[in-house]
Order: sequence, then C-alpha cells, then structure tokens
Amino acid sequence: MLKIEGKSLSQGAVIGKVRFYRETQYDIDEGDYEDSDAEIEKFERAMEAVKEHKWALANAAEVNSDIEGSLVFASHVALLEDKGLIHRVEEYIRAMKKSAEFCVKIGFDEVADDIRSLPDPYIMRRSDDILELEKEVLEELMGTSSTISFGKEPYILAAYDLTASEVARLDRRYVLAIMLKEGNLNTHASILAKGLGIPCVIRAETLSAACDGQEAIVDGTNGLVFIKPDDETVNEYDKIMKENKKFTDSLMRLKGKMTVTKDGREVRLYADIANPYDIQMVFDNDATGIGLFRSDYLFLKDRDYPSEDEQYLAYRKVVEDMSPGSVIIRTVDIGSDKSVPYLQLPNEANPALGMRAVRVSLTRRDFFKVQLRAMLRATTYGNLRILFPMITSISELKECKEILGECEEELRKEHVVIGNYLIGVMIETPASVFIADQLAAESDFLSIGTNDLTQFTLAIDRQNPNLDRFFDPHHPAIIEQIRMTIEAGHRHGSLVLICGELAEDASMTETFMRMGVDGLSVTPQAVLPLRQKIRELDLSV
Ligand code: PEP
Ligand code: MG
Repeated sequence: MLKIEGKSLSQGAVIGKVRFYRETQYDIDEGDYEDSDAEIEKFERAMEAVKEHKWALANAAEVNSDIEGSLVFASHVALLEDKGLIHRVEEYIRAMKKSAEFCVKIGFDEVADDIRSLPDPYIMRRSDDILELEKEVLEELMGTSSTISFGKEPYILAAYDLTASEVARLDRRYVLAIMLKEGNLNTHASILAKGLGIPCVIRAETLSAACDGQEAIVDGTNGLVFIKPDDETVNEYDKIMKENKKFTDSLMRLKGKMTVTKDGREVRLYADIANPYDIQMVFDNDATGIGLFRSDYLFLKDRDYPSEDEQYLAYRKVVEDMSPGSVIIRTVDIGSDKSVPYLQLPNEANPALGMRAVRVSLTRRDFFKVQLRAMLRATTYGNLRILFPMITSISELKECKEILGECEEELRKEHVVIGNYLIGVMIETPASVFIADQLAAESDFLSIGTNDLTQFTLAIDRQNPNLDRFFDPHHPAIIEQIRMTIEAGHRHGSLVLICGELAEDASMTETFMRMGVDGLSVTPQAVLPLRQKIRELDLSV
C-alpha cells in the first residue's frame, strides 16, 4: 500500500479503480510503410468521418436558423474536399512511405503556412480553420476525442494536473473522484472540479502514472490517497464512507426548512453551478436559487464558440427548471487560466491581469452579443439575472448595458418577447469596491467574488501554488472591503451577495450575517451544512 498526503479540494471518500489521464499529445508515429495504399485509405476514411461530422453540424445549425454557423461548417467541408490539400498529403504518403498521421501533420501545416503568407486578412484567417481541421483529422486517425473518457465503468481519475477545459470535458457520469499530483485550490480548474461534487485531492506530490489500473482510496476530506490499500485500510474506509453517508442523510432533514437564524434573520442560500446538468445537485441540496452560473463551462467544453441556440437552450433549461427560483448567469469569464483556442487570445505575461472576462466581451462584441441575445431569449422562462464579471469602472458597466440594449432592440425587431430580468455587477477588484456606490446605482444587485477580490487585493496570483500560505481570504483588507460593499449596496437599495470560496467558509458565516449580507452562493454540497450553521446562530446576543 502506498499512502500519499495531498491537500483536500473537496470532501468525501471513495474506493475505486484508477485511470491515469495524460494530456492528449500528438505522439505521432512516423512509421515506415511500404504499403502506401493502406495509409492513403486510412487518410481518406478519416477525412470522410470529419466531413460527415461537419455536415451534421452544418445541418443542425441550419435547422436552428443559425445561418452563420451553418456557413462556417459548410466552408470546413469545402476545405476537406480541397484537391490541392488532399493530393499534397497523398503525395507525401507515397513518396515518404510514412504514416498517414505524419503526412497529415506535414501537409496541413504547410497549407496553413502558405495561406498565412497571403496578403488578404480574410483568407489568412482560413489557416486557423486548416489547423483546426488538422487536429480533428489527427484525432480521427489516432482515436482521441475531445471528451475525456475511459469507457463506461466508474473510475478514479488521476492526472498530473488538469486545465479548466479538461475538467469541462470530463465525462462526469463515470468519475468517482479526482486526484492530482499538482493543482491549486483557487484555480478555475479546481473550482470546476469541486463543482462535480465528488472527493478531490490535489498536490498528491508522489502520485505517478504507475497507479494506472490499481485500486485506490481517495479521502477528499483529509487530503489522502491510498494506492493498493491493504484490507485494514479498506475496512476502515468502508466504515468512514458509511458514516459520511449517515451525515449527508442527516442533513436532508433541513430540506424545505428556512435559512434563518434563531433571532429571525433570513438569508438567501444559493448554489453555484457550471453546467446546466448541475441543477440536479441544486435541487438535491435545496438551494434557494442559483447565485452563480459560471457560463464559462459552455465555452470551454468544445472546440468552437457555442452558438446562440446552444447557449439559449442551456440558459433556458436552467432558468425554466429553477423557476420560480432565480438564476444569476454570469457572462463569460474566459481568459487567464481559462484559455480557448478559438478566441486566439494573446499570450500574456500576467494573464490574470490581462485579457479576460468582461474585457474579452467588450473587445469581442460579436461574441458578447451572441451570449447576451441567448440570455435575453431565455428571460421569459423564469427569473433570470445577468451578472457582469471583473467590472472595474462605471464606463465598462455602461458599455455592457448599452450592448445589452442593442441586443434587446434587435430581438424586439425580430419579434422575440423579452421577459423581466435584473442586472448585477461582480465586485472582485478593489477598484470596484471603491466605486461600489456608483455601481450599485447603475445596477440591480452586487455580487462579491471573494476569490478574485483576494487575488487582486493581496496582489497574489491565485494560480501560483508557491504562494498558498500568503493567499489569505481572511485578511482584514478583504473583510473590510466586503463590509464596505454591503453598506454601499444597501445605501442604494441593492441586494448584496457573496460568492467565491470564502462564501462557504463556515467560520465567516456569522461575520457576514452581522454585516447584513443578503445572500451567499456556494457549491451545492455546502448549502445544507451552512443552513445548519445559520439556524444555530443568534445575532441578538
Ligand atoms: C470569484 O472571483 O470569487 C468568483 C466567484 O469568480 P471565479 O472564481 O469564477 O473567478
Ligand atoms: Mg472571479
């Protein structure tokens, strides 16, 4: 048995078989193939499969009246039929006697380079399409796909580290627990992993790929991993798991009860979600509503920007299912540690301070409008609230509202009915705290994002594991800013919520309640324990 000490990311214990995930690398085997015909046939089959996939996407887009999307996919089909490209790859296979994948890589790269050197910027952009298609043809040839999955048996996922996009691509139905050699508590990858509601251990430093296929125990509560556990440890954990189950079952008695202190102060207890399917966890844990739908998941899981219809269906599902409870959907916070290839964001020395969140949205209005239109179309299905992340100035908020107004006007012209909705601002930088009065006057509610507020107040990169001991969300500067924001919001009659990791820190609940916070948004699993905590508080003493 190997015992590994790591850090707890999310609670609970589980026993299962480990599957070790490695980032898809194109470990292209050059090969040495005399039989070029067989390689050419393989290449043609892969091209055909990708083409079929693209046709299906083009048709689906057309059915959904997404003319632009349909044209993009149709243009991909045309590229895959390009004789020059096909002949080039086939020539290489014949002349070099190398594998189909090796020649696809060379052929597609060359065509992309040729296109990039053309003077027309529109045509130049086609080189990205070629590279995207190259990736898909390679995946087809090499049997990798964009969903991370190890078949249909439940397993414990082990990895050196995971990016936010990799967590978004997990086939969550089969993942029992996650253990990582690296990882950091406050990254978006960790936040998404935590949202899966399964035990997670990070920084299990001696974890290695040798555990693949072995039985293991992941103890998320204590940050421990046991590889090939002995009988005694298995028996001990069988008992612990039964106790855990008893405890979670006992919390169920709080379902349907109010989140109210002994002296009658009620608070809204919302849940965070990242994915429309997380809504079941919100019901299971009886949250008042959704306080933070991090829409980023939709943008991370696929190779392309999600279409207006895809987004609309996701937002509508959540809003409709949660109705009459409210749903706060945050506009996309992409960039920094959540990079997506299709936006081609610049490489930055300080990405957390860079092109991310609302800055991306205001720079790429075309994408932003797609998201806002999708949200507005979902308003008639329930109680939707739109939240803008990383606002640092009034002018940014005004610009967001102006674009939202343009979208409304467009939709009304298209005879789309728009329901009522509210507008909120995330307070996650000291700048926004200092102008919280003005932001509150220009919006309907404020939501304090304690993760980024800590990062930017203490000037500590939340991604950097070496700085963990300095990353202190309890720092008086953070607590004071929370108080200032609540007071500013209340001066303007706005509701003020707290989200981010600190919101579920039970040692802070009483302080936040005494400050007068109107709501907390936490991971679904934290809702009932916090309800229990709040029901035990008496603020009159
Ligand atoms: C926060 O910063 O506290 C927050 C809720 O947003 P995120 O963690 O997604 O950056
Ligand atoms: Mg944030």
